[in-house]
Amino acid sequence: MSYTTEDTPPPSAPPRISAIPALGEPEFRFFQVVQDYIKEAADLIELPAYLRRILPEPKNEIVVHFPVRLDSGEVEVFKGYRIQHNNILGPYKGGLRFHPHAGLDDFKALASLMTWKCSLIGVPFGGAKGGIKFDPQKYSRGENERITRRFIHSLGNNIGPDSDIPAPDVGTGEQTMAWAMDTFVNTNSRDGNQVNRGVVTGKPVAVGGTLGRTKATGQGVVHCITDWADRHAFDLEGKKLMVQGFGNVGSHTAVLLSHLGVSLVAVGDHTGYLYNPEGFNTYRLQDYVRKNGSIQGYPNGQAFSRAEFFGVQADIFVPAALENQVGAEEARALQVRLVAEGANGPTNPAGEAVLKERGIAVLPDILANAGGVTVSYYEWVQNRRSESWTITDVDERLEKAMRLGYQHMHDVAHRYGCSYRIACYAVALERLRAVYEQRGIFP
Ligand code: NAD
Repeated sequence: MSYTTEDTPPPSAPPRISAIPALGEPEFRFFQVVQDYIKEAADLIELPAYLRRILPEPKNEIVVHFPVRLDSGEVEVFKGYRIQHNNILGPYKGGLRFHPHAGLDDFKALASLMTWKCSLIGVPFGGAKGGIKFDPQKYSRGENERITRRFIHSLGNNIGPDSDIPAPDVGTGEQTMAWAMDTFVNTNSRDGNQVNRGVVTGKPVAVGGTLGRTKATGQGVVHCITDWADRHAFDLEGKKLMVQGFGNVGSHTAVLLSHLGVSLVAVGDHTGYLYNPEGFNTYRLQDYVRKNGSIQGYPNGQAFSRAEFFGVQADIFVPAALENQVGAEEARALQVRLVAEGANGPTNPAGEAVLKERGIAVLPDILANAGGVTVSYYEWVQNRRSESWTITDVDERLEKAMRLGYQHMHDVAHRYGCSYRIACYAVALERLRAVYEQRGIFP
């Protein structure tokens, strides 16, 4: 049964978006936060000293500046990044983020998260992340295409199907990946189109993408939520959901949960926050955002502030926007049983401490949003083998991988008496340790 009612708009429509979203903590050093998690997990599993020195730092930090001619005829110079954290488990892998506030510290943290995520979920990839510091919504489609192509060209042979494989993240999507792939293929044609299609994942199906990739991250979040619900005798039917960020991850999570009888009552994005106690029609809202770029102006919801959003009476909160959104204040306001991290790093340490104190469960990012990279791996395998899997193949494999990841996290948390987050890092580090111990340090 689906709870996408929305037949009766709330009384005070039409809505007006008023809130300017703030951050959970002004001084948030994302990379340091991840280092602290690594240290805690390393202490727990008694990771050898040499690995404590190697693993926190990225292997390569690539920064490029490149010019692009805008529609006006002016030339603008853009700054792009690709951080390659670790590739002991396989080629570097990670998203491309186009965002005006993206910077080196975030990309280093996000690249590192990819290493732990791939290790935890058992995907033979390393960790990377990159992107461009700009707001894609402020540029035309033609400008976005030229910016993407010029960036991929600037990265040159630093990326490739056997070395480093980008994917979509905030501000990028299927179209960006199609341009990225086409640029790479055209500038590296001696190896052949077919092989080089695997240089990026998250492509449209028509140009070598896989069925199930667009919804994969949201689908993975939902598998984690259902697993948690099963273990806690928590009937999802009739429960209320709040989602921050209604892009790829947030919207697919909400749509898929609506099939399980979970009703989306509060939603927010970079333009503001909306409330509908009757439940949003998640499909209609997703469609609206596709056409309009945000939730702003959506007719069937009442605008309210970011502070009011965090105080909504609900059961599940899925942060699916950016890092550092749940600080101590937000954690004290939340009225839910479960936080499932669709975004990377949405809960800061102060926020997590408050959630723990209040008995609110957290499903951590490196497991909860690992569905994306898992299905990216399936896409890469299909590209290499020139195969096309059915949606059932993809869905079944993903569910198995997510449930296995959850089980490993749960077992280790139980063994060490630690949080789910630290357990995820511990599982990831154990696997990396095994590889380093057998391969040794070159030369
Ligand atoms: P997206 O660009 O499709 O959507 C991002 C959403 O966040 C948008 O709705 C945007 O309006 C909102 N947002 C941006 N700034 C905000 C702010 N200050 N306050 C409130 N909302 C804000 O991006 P996405 O791909 O859905 O990624 C969202 C998160 O999930 C990121 O943390 C990303 O790293 C993570 N993630 C994405 C994938 C993937 O497959 N796309 C995989 C794993 C993790």
